[in-house]
Amino acid sequence: ATPTAVMVATGIGANHGILIKGGDALERACLVQCVVFDKTGTLTKGKPLVTHQTVKIFSKTPLAQFLTIVASAEAGSEHPLAKALVDYAHNHLVFTEPLTPRSADMPKNRDLSWMKEASGFENMPGEGVRCTVDGISVLIGNRNLMRKFGVNLSEEVESYLQQTEDRAGTGILVAFDGTIAGVMGISDPLKPEAALVVEGLQRMGIRCIMVTGDNRSTARSVAHMVGIDEVFAEVLPGGKADMINQLQSDGTVVAMVGDGVNDSPALAAADVGIAIGAGTDIAIEAADYVLMRNSLEDVITAIDLSRKTFSRIR
Ligand code: ADP
Ligand code: MG
Repeated sequence: ATPTAVMVATGIGANHGILIKGGDALERACLVQCVVFDKTGTLTKGKPLVTHQTVKIFSKTPLAQFLTIVASAEAGSEHPLAKALVDYAHNHLVFTEPLTPRSADMPKNRDLSWMKEASGFENMPGEGVRCTVDGISVLIGNRNLMRKFGVNLSEEVESYLQQTEDRAGTGILVAFDGTIAGVMGISDPLKPEAALVVEGLQRMGIRCIMVTGDNRSTARSVAHMVGIDEVFAEVLPGGKADMINQLQSDGTVVAMVGDGVNDSPALAAADVGIAIGAGTDIAIEAADYVLMRNSLEDVITAIDLSRKTFSRIR
């Protein structure tokens, strides 16, 4: 393709809210044989909600105190799950009304004066967070995180967690001073276009794979709903990039679509890294393409555009 064709294609991309960082990226996209999707915030809305029925306390901590500590700990995290936990706590503590789905879009200028200070905050990508609130050592995250810090899961906790996961939800474990204090069930709805986009790509002869740091049960049920058979679950951020390299090792041209900090190594490793515009800055920086409209349909548009631009020279 001529430089003019590349310029025209870049312009067409821009009209679709597709930011293409350079001609090389545009040229590689037409060769893509396999698209790897992140789950949370990419295939799903990334606006998960905690529901009343799924907060279960396994300790003597009163609910209000439990929620205050959880939200204060998660306030330092950018993760969509963290936002859901903070929103839920806010709703519960500030309003007396039951939670409505609108809470996911709460105004930014809400009153957060009930929050406590979290010290020694540590974000553990793909696992959760750790800090101290009110002199209590707090861990919030998944099984891996609890295993790492030697927190034991009783049969009761394990079976509750399993129940949550089987309903396509993510069970978030909360430990205070090394003991499970509660489990919060969160569910994150699919993006409405996700299944159609997967089907469209498959029809274009492109293999679709899902990768997530989330647990196997939740991952499998989400993948099933969008029509993806190949699932890699409980993958740590570094593991996502390793997986991309593995796929590339036989010459397969791989695109990665993601939104999170934890996706950035994989976005950089992929032949074509595609970031969701609403994603974190680090992901956007690591990617070759940015989808400003946040619609997965633009993954197809991007590949199509590249195919049309470069088909003539093949
Ligand atoms: P994905 O790969 O699907 O985007 P992540 O790798 O970001 O998911 O997270 C994987 C899992 O780690 C989550 O499902 C959750 O159990 C846990 N986790 C990550 N960040 C947090 C957090 N801030 N608070 C609680 N749990 C978290
Ligand atoms: Mg994500």
